Amino acid sequence: MNSEDWESICNRCGKCCYEKVDLGGGQIIYTKEPCVHLDTKTNLCKVYETRHIVEPDCIALTENLVRSLNWLPPDCAYLEHVRMQDTIAAVNIAKEKIRKKRNNKGNKRRK
Ligand code: SF4
Repeated sequence: MNSEDWESICNRCGKCCYEKVDLGGGQIIYTKEPCVHLDTKTNLCKVYETRHIVEPDCIALTENLVRSLNWLPPDCAYLEHVRMQDTIAAVNIAKEKIRKKRNNKGNKRRK
């Protein structure tokens, strides 16, 4: 997936751009305090192209990060994307196991 495709997954809800408090033990609380660069009317970042320079704490999401971060909103489009990818991978593994089993049965019958 190229970076344009990856970026297009975001639904621009802006939910991840609010300050969070880490209570420990996996508990994250979102505050009502937006990032200073978030336009709260459009939910878009006002410095999107340079956000990682302007705000070094701003994280560039990758698939691996999405899987490991514990603070993305549960309905984040990236989380939904990786859940879908995991489901597709699990279905493909199951299909492959079934195919191998069928092949093995077919081979045994021919002997
Ligand atoms: S919460 Fe997820 S979908 Fe919403 S703006 Fe942030 S990265 Fe995009």
